[in-house]
Amino acid sequence: MTTVDLPLLPLGRGTDLNSERGVECPGDLPAASDPDLVKRALAAKEKLGDKVFVLGHHYQRDEVIQFADVTGDSFKLARDAAARPDAEYIVFCGVHFMAESADILTSPSQAVILPDLAAGCSMADMARLGQVEKAWEALSEAGVAEQVVPVTYMNSSADIKAFCGRHDGVVCTSSNAQAVLEWAFEQKSDAKVLFFPDQHLGRNTAVLKLGMSLDDCVVWDPLKPGGGVTPEELRAAKMILWKGHCSVHGRFSPDTIDDLRAEIPGVQILVHPECQHEVVLKADLVGSTEFIISTIEAAPPGSAWAVGTELNLVKRLAAAHPDKRIVFLDRTVCYCSTMNRIDLPHFVWALESLVEGQVVNRIEVDADTEHYAKLALQRMLDLPGKTQDD
Ligand code: SF4
Repeated sequence: MTTVDLPLLPLGRGTDLNSERGVECPGDLPAASDPDLVKRALAAKEKLGDKVFVLGHHYQRDEVIQFADVTGDSFKLARDAAARPDAEYIVFCGVHFMAESADILTSPSQAVILPDLAAGCSMADMARLGQVEKAWEALSEAGVAEQVVPVTYMNSSADIKAFCGRHDGVVCTSSNAQAVLEWAFEQKSDAKVLFFPDQHLGRNTAVLKLGMSLDDCVVWDPLKPGGGVTPEELRAAKMILWKGHCSVHGRFSPDTIDDLRAEIPGVQILVHPECQHEVVLKADLVGSTEFIISTIEAAPPGSAWAVGTELNLVKRLAAAHPDKRIVFLDRTVCYCSTMNRIDLPHFVWALESLVEGQVVNRIEVDADTEHYAKLALQRMLDLPGKTQDD
């Protein structure tokens, strides 16, 4: 059993790697060099039958995604899990906050398992509950807390979702962020939104979809005293953006777009809204992971695309569409390091442990957190229109 709040350890910064979460698995973790891993995974999955349901996020490695019963983005996967109440074990090949969401939406009798507990999300870890509560106090001191509707991106820990639930706030995904923000601004007169953890999704949606100006937005830096903003700036702002970002999508840069346009005539730039504002401004199309997939699927043969999202997905799209030119929107190779934590040895270990009757790496959200996180999720689900995906 695990707690709900697991910050990502700063790898390579003098930490003791032996103490890293997820490295020490009870029992035997198979060696990565074991030539029988695929066979073992197949055998364990077959033995478990309908008792196990394997979810694979789009950003997972090929070696793992081949075993997924269903693939998708985080919210779709959580809902897929909820639609399989007969499955005793939900093995989530994704990251920690996604497994929490699946636990929130599934029944208490179902165990959600994350094969490697070190599969966190650096973005989700950028908004910690203690930091958010301090920011809320500062908003109260500035006299604006009454006007503020907290909105959290799906990519956040369960306790941040619960914070939003407790404070009349809501969850959003990258495909419904506009509808959610419109709802939030209708909730109070002179409303302001505190948006976390991804400043880029918040800014891109506020400016490009709701027509705000960059001056309407301020950035709250949890590592600076007073968030690095004055009470006057808080009072003047409409959008208070948490200083968080995705370590994958935040890497793409506007000059790479210029280079690719010069290099590949007619190339279309397709990016995720977690990218920086300057990148989104230069792109041809912006949208969620599902939008990126459906856009490529619908593209005519011979078309050329530079895609700004996680590399595992871009490579799979390129392999599935050899009649289109699909390139990655970065000069260097960059996978989501935490997503890639889920590898075959951990997957096999989790499945074989289940075969032996041992539930490992269970992700469980406590009842109080679950109650309030569900409230925030439900407010999102009650909105008309599309609700999926991160
Ligand atoms: S791609 Fe970004 S948001 Fe998604 S898990 Fe990795 S760090 Fe988190």
